[in-house]
Amino acid sequence: MKQTRASRRLRPPAFEYHGAASGAHARELYCEAVSLASLASRHGTPLYVYSAAMIRARLDAFRRAFHSIPHTLCYSVKANSTLGILRLVASAGSGFDVVSGGELQRVLRVNRRAASKVVFSGVGKTAAEMELALRSGILLFNLESASELKLLAATAARLKKPAAIAVRVNPDVPAKTHPYISTGLHQHKFGVPIPQARALYAEAAKQPYLKVAGVSVHIGSQITDVGSFQAALERVADLVRGLRKQGHDIRYIDAGGGLGISYEGAQGNFEKQIAAYARAVLAPLRGLKLHLLLEPGRSIVGPAGVLLTRVLYRKTNRRKRFLIVDAAMNDLLRPSLYGAYHEIVPVSRKSRETEIADVVGPICETGDFFARDRRLPVVSEGDLLAILDVGAYGSVLGSNYNTRGRAAELLVNGAKARVIRRRESVQDQLRLEKL
Ligand SMILES: *Cc1c(COP(=O)(O)O)cnc(C)c1O
Repeated sequence: MKQTRASRRLRPPAFEYHGAASGAHARELYCEAVSLASLASRHGTPLYVYSAAMIRARLDAFRRAFHSIPHTLCYSVKANSTLGILRLVASAGSGFDVVSGGELQRVLRVNRRAASKVVFSGVGKTAAEMELALRSGILLFNLESASELKLLAATAARLKKPAAIAVRVNPDVPAKTHPYISTGLHQHKFGVPIPQARALYAEAAKQPYLKVAGVSVHIGSQITDVGSFQAALERVADLVRGLRKQGHDIRYIDAGGGLGISYEGAQGNFEKQIAAYARAVLAPLRGLKLHLLLEPGRSIVGPAGVLLTRVLYRKTNRRKRFLIVDAAMNDLLRPSLYGAYHEIVPVSRKSRETEIADVVGPICETGDFFARDRRLPVVSEGDLLAILDVGAYGSVLGSNYNTRGRAAELLVNGAKARVIRRRESVQDQLRLEKL
């Protein structure tokens, strides 16, 4: 199992090829100490496989990078909300960022006491969702409008449960990312422009059941230029100084999530990336005594998951080559939705030969693809492919389009693999319908 070339270590420490590619023997892709081919034979495909070691390592790296300041990691549940993943994150001591009552119920299902480390974000919280959050005793509501503030004040007063609040500000800084996942510009629906935010704080301070506690910001997702975070937090820091002068007790800054990962080519050193991110976030906060909240999602779970899929057919239309696989856009929507790039590798590396092909699913949509005109090692019908970096915004965006059941999900821990979500059957899908 000696690794001779760095390229074989696809996504260290979790996903690596084992064995030598000599003679008849292929190199086989593993997740930790488990062969992915064996998991696919046992559990079928399409199959999500996650590495617990990698998720733990990334949580630890965050913690080390921010050790100099009191902080709480509030893992963003929407990146991957499978209970087994949430339990792993909770057992590492992290809290959660939720954007719906449903996500909060998932967290409570994992650990009732985790509510004390939950922040609730989102532009459209309903009264019922607020009520659930108030009764469970969450840490912080991130408010996104004057109307929402009014409803929370009324709901908290009705229940006689005080609510700690932050206003999510829209700092009007551009983030270099896909337009669908950029959120920090005034034309986006998220947050409140800073001048308006000041008025909201004044309003909140008058409400007997609202407790002003923080300022929150989240400028988007898959941001790799850490300068954007620094620019946003400089504005937030100015606002905090101003609010404190007016007598508001601002204890928390919620810096949101959004740190990007590398989907293409060699993976950079995560420790270095996270250190650069921490410097960008912390520099503007120097001298402000506060407790920092961080809401990473993708950067914790993204590279920790692969989607295994089997090649059903090879097909050539004139010169165009297709690999038709058994996973589809209902299992992994990112390529169709954002034109996102995901590396695709054979689970068993037999051939040195390559070819250019489209990797597509069986769904009746031209948009149902995972890769277009991609150079890939030659694979045969029946072979397994692994689509990399699908731990975040993968399974959560799954659907039943074409009456396809959602994929099963496994969590690997060393030499053990546990089913954390079983494959959805047609029976499961028809349960809610009536003839
Ligand atoms: C989506 C989201 C996050 C997580 O973003 P990542 O890019 O996955 O780190 C954090 N906070 C809020 C408010 C979000 O909407």
